[in-house]
Amino acid sequence: MEGSVSLAKGAADAPFYLPQGDECSVFEAAYENGLPVLLKGPTGCGKTRFVAHMAEKLGRKLYTVACHDDLSAADLIGRYLLKGGETVWVDGPLTRAVREGAICYLDEVVEARKDVTVVLHPLTDDRRTLPIDRTSEELAAAPGFMLVASYNPGYQNILKTLKPSTRQRFISLEFKFPPVDLEVEVVAEESGLDRDRVTALVRLAGKLRALKGQDLEEGVSTRLVVYAATLVAQGMPVDRAILAAMIEPLTDDEDVKRGLLDLVTAVFG
Ligand code: ADP
Repeated sequence: MEGSVSLAKGAADAPFYLPQGDECSVFEAAYENGLPVLLKGPTGCGKTRFVAHMAEKLGRKLYTVACHDDLSAADLIGRYLLKGGETVWVDGPLTRAVREGAICYLDEVVEARKDVTVVLHPLTDDRRTLPIDRTSEELAAAPGFMLVASYNPGYQNILKTLKPSTRQRFISLEFKFPPVDLEVEVVAEESGLDRDRVTALVRLAGKLRALKGQDLEEGVSTRLVVYAATLVAQGMPVDRAILAAMIEPLTDDEDVKRGLLDLVTAVFG
């Protein structure tokens, strides 16, 4: 399993991230003290962007792993592979981050298989070690190594929740959809669309989010609002962009869709 790697070049190159509160200073304090961080929040609210921004700001390489239900400890740690007739050990993204003193970001960590959490435990306490059974190594984390994980409490069910014994090893930061003025700022910056039209899209997003739990499983994400604004900025009519970026991705139910379109009419007239 390969992690995506971005080379850190310093704060000036950091991807745009608009803080919602003091999350940057809490993250920095955790980094300086070698503490792991858990980001909680709905999908598309800026968690991944935040980690990319902080990694660049702190001058650390970033290994990002999108966790899925087939992801095992070996995918993170590494495995023996056959290369040109020889069996060679290949580090996984977590091992590379531990060796190099990089940041390892496990996106949606609850999705991963159970053996993953076992591996994380010695890394998330004062041992800061990664046991690699296959090579009989007990790897000590290089200075600068940081473990960051995210999860979406909204997706939780009885089988897929973080156990207290795991949660209680992380400093936790809660992410929510930003208040209107901040979200307008984010969407305008990301899409290049004018503030008036962005504000209308953000207002609509607020109304759609209010339906979460009734007709919708998840509220519309900032990511989708950025998509809608990007399409409008490219010249697509607003109602078409909204349907494609903010309605269709939320539901397959025709009745619910009609209800959502009524909301669009209420906001845009
Ligand atoms: P998550 O990891 O929470 O699913 P992302 O970090 O991928 O979400 O965010 C989705 C998109 O939303 C980003 O690509 C970015 O365009 C935008 N975004 C959301 N919040 C912010 C923010 N605070 N600052 C900058 N961009 C943001």
